[in-house]
Amino acid sequence: MTAIILLGPPGAGKGTVAEVLAEKGYTHISTGALLREQIRLETPLGMDIKARMDQGRFVSDRVVVEMVREVLASAGGEKKFLFDGFPRTLAQAEIFDGILQSEGTSIDEVILLECADDAIIERLSGRRTCIKCGMVYHVKYNPASSAGVCDIDGCELIHRPDDNVETIRKRLDVYAERTAPLIAYYKAKGLILPVDASQSIDAVRSTVLEKLR
Ligand SMILES: [Zn+2]
Repeated sequence: MTAIILLGPPGAGKGTVAEVLAEKGYTHISTGALLREQIRLETPLGMDIKARMDQGRFVSDRVVVEMVREVLASAGGEKKFLFDGFPRTLAQAEIFDGILQSEGTSIDEVILLECADDAIIERLSGRRTCIKCGMVYHVKYNPASSAGVCDIDGCELIHRPDDNVETIRKRLDVYAERTAPLIAYYKAKGLILPVDASQSIDAVRSTVLEKLR
C-alpha cells in the first residue's frame, strides 16, 4: 500500500493536487466525505456521529481512525491512497501510524502545500459566485465579461460570507494552530514534501508530478 497525506491551508489548491494524484491511480480519502457517507447510510457509526454533531461535539479521534481503518480493510492490500483532512490531530496521526505498522506498512509522503496568508486572502476574497449556477469567478484572475453578472446565465454574482477577509483569516489561524504539531511530527520523520502553492495551478500540478517521481 502507498499512503500519501495532503496538508495545506484552505485556498492552497488541495483539489488540484487531489486531481493530479487521482490521475496517478490514488484513491482520494476525505474524512469529511466519509463522515457524511456514514450518516447518509445510517450505519451504527453514522448514528453515533450524527448524535455527537447535533450536540456540537467533535467526533472522537478513535471513531475517525476506525472509519479510515475500515476503508483500508475493505480495499485490500495493493492500493494507493491520498488522505485529505486526515489525520487532523496528533493523536489521530499516532493511532494511524500504529495501524499502518500492524499492517506492515507506513506513510510514504506528506505533501505540504505552502502559501503565504496574503496570497490566499487575495485568492479567496476576490471570488464571486453565481447565485444560480454556482460558477465561481475571480475579480482579478478570472473575471466575468460583465462585472457582477454570470457569463452563463446572466444572474447576479455574490461575495459569499465564507470569502470575507475576516472569515478567511480565522480559518487560516485555525489551520496554522491545528496543523503545526502535525507538521512538526512528520518533519521529525523526514516525510514532509513541501510544494510552493503560491504558483499557478499548472505549476503546482507539474511540481507535484515531478516530486512524486
Ligand atoms: Zn450562473
